[in-house]
Amino acid sequence: MQSGKISVQSENIFPIIKKFLYSEQEIFLRELISNAVDATSKLKALSNRGEAKGEIGSLKIEVIPNKEAKTLTIRDKGIGMDADEVDRYLNQVAFSSAQEFLDKFKDELSIIGHFGLGFYSAFMVADKVEVITRSYKENAQAVKWTCLGDTNYTIENSDKSERGTDIILHLNEDSLDYTEQYKLETLLEKFCKFLPIPIQLGTKKEKIKEEDVEKEIEIPNIINDTDPLWKKNPLEINDEQYKDFYQKLYPFSAEPLFWIHLNIDYPFNLTGILYFPKLKNQFEIQKNKIHLYSNQVFVTDDVKEIVPEFLQLLHGVIDSPDIPLNVSRSYLQSDSNVRKITSYITKKVAEKLNDLYKKNRDDFEKKWDDIGTFIKYGIISDEKFAEKAISFALLKNTDKVYSTLEEYKEAVKDTQKDKNNNITVLYTQDPQQHFSIIQQCKDRSYQVLIMDHVIDNHFLQHLEHKDGLRFKRVDSETVDQLIESDSKAESVLSESDQNKIQELFKSIPLNRATETQIKALSPTDDPVQIVRPEFMRRMSEMQHMMTMMKGDGDDLFKDSYQLIINSNHPVIAQKLNDMGDENQKKDMVSYLVQLSLLNQNMLKGEDLNDFVRKSMAKM
Ligand code: ADP
Repeated sequence: MQSGKISVQSENIFPIIKKFLYSEQEIFLRELISNAVDATSKLKALSNRGEAKGEIGSLKIEVIPNKEAKTLTIRDKGIGMDADEVDRYLNQVAFSSAQEFLDKFKDELSIIGHFGLGFYSAFMVADKVEVITRSYKENAQAVKWTCLGDTNYTIENSDKSERGTDIILHLNEDSLDYTEQYKLETLLEKFCKFLPIPIQLGTKKEKIKEEDVEKEIEIPNIINDTDPLWKKNPLEINDEQYKDFYQKLYPFSAEPLFWIHLNIDYPFNLTGILYFPKLKNQFEIQKNKIHLYSNQVFVTDDVKEIVPEFLQLLHGVIDSPDIPLNVSRSYLQSDSNVRKITSYITKKVAEKLNDLYKKNRDDFEKKWDDIGTFIKYGIISDEKFAEKAISFALLKNTDKVYSTLEEYKEAVKDTQKDKNNNITVLYTQDPQQHFSIIQQCKDRSYQVLIMDHVIDNHFLQHLEHKDGLRFKRVDSETVDQLIESDSKAESVLSESDQNKIQELFKSIPLNRATETQIKALSPTDDPVQIVRPEFMRRMSEMQHMMTMMKGDGDDLFKDSYQLIINSNHPVIAQKLNDMGDENQKKDMVSYLVQLSLLNQNMLKGEDLNDFVRKSMAKM
């Protein structure tokens, strides 16, 4: 028996390991199984090259809990180690043979490795670790390495007859639940679901039929799918398989809309499938997240640093050995590989969407309500994505006709240019409420867009900023003045008559905040209109968003409402002016105000009489 000291810089390495990784203690299992998978993959490679002699037999990895002995064993039938290798690999922390192997066999296999602490994370859960291992080399002497979680170790010969390695963890008192079946199942399900080598946890019963007789037999309980869909050739996969795989990742989720199969090997290696889910009208808290894998080992579903925020609305799997895993977040953000990967994914997603748009616009339009949020979010938050996406981002008008921004501009260039030659984009958040105004807009051949999603406010501001467009909600001015022009209609009333009428409206105690204006509009326009100036309304909406107050249904006469009197309308210009009796005039004025409210559909389902009474009380 040989004993010695592990060569580490600090005597205190183990307490540090324990503390440092405590929060993610359970990853020890991932680390040890990854090592076992590596050792097995290496053996496969050697065998393929004819360097490992004989039958390689079954290569499955076993996870074996033993409650009585308080141990957890991870058993593989991989390349194993001889005494020298144990000394080199296990006694020298951070000495990674994976790297060495990778250099040698670069083109032949992928090594999980690169997990930094790797093997030593076993001491997070074990007081004592034994490694019993026998190398694949002919006539190798099996050895047993024992370490009690300090820097002392022993190596002695063992009589292990099979090739491979047993890692035996003598669990510490706090970690005994790692012998529980359910706990192991959950962990293996999380980390090992798609590992390339079969992982067995005990056995399970299965019913079979033999000569028409049903029988129950014990079969190995293999927990992983060794050949996950994202590793397969996209040309050989049908839609059903993609959908099934989605269910495997996110059981009981609604069917995805479509997906992108990522597959690249230069300048970095990355595979994966990104699914477009149906997004509800509001931003949901996303429970289904993208899973990040490194050579089929689950790493995390916290992909913040690798996937731009808007892409995090997608679901699926990204698998890359080129993403550094065990380093700090801030390092990840500045890592050039990560940045390349990020921009690659963004590019791919934009290309795929462009493809869908080009190939089948009808279908793209049908999907728009579901993917629009995602694309708008991308345009707002990611310049590179925006460059591409702006050409297929769609705008929907009140006739449910979709157009791109360019198409919209082209369609309205003769009708919606203001006096400075800028296009005014007209929109509504509620086509029902603005029904009557929208009709008036249509009469003038204007195109009104529906922008009714929370993101639309941000989206239109983005377009205003980027594209020099001006967005106006249809009720932000009188219809006549939505598109600013130089020409001013003459008022048929004298200035003093106009003043009198304005005074009359003011004499009805409308909520003080409401501004009253008299304007010379077309005689065919409504006599009284209520408008909400764009800027003030956006401000109040923003405030509303921030404070999450209740809807604005009943504070009709907040300061952002203006009452516009059309001095050229016959009722104002003649009838009202001709009336002698003051009370009669006031009744008429109240009546006109009610009508304008009605016209704007501000009743929102209320009984008209009730509404009139309430509004009168407010006036
Ligand atoms: P890494 O896996 O990053 O190289 P580890 O600390 O996990 O670092 O492992 C150190 C080395 O020990 C590995 O590179 C490998 O050579 C060896 N090793 C660990 N586990 C096994 C195993 N199950 N079979 C064979 N070799 C192993």
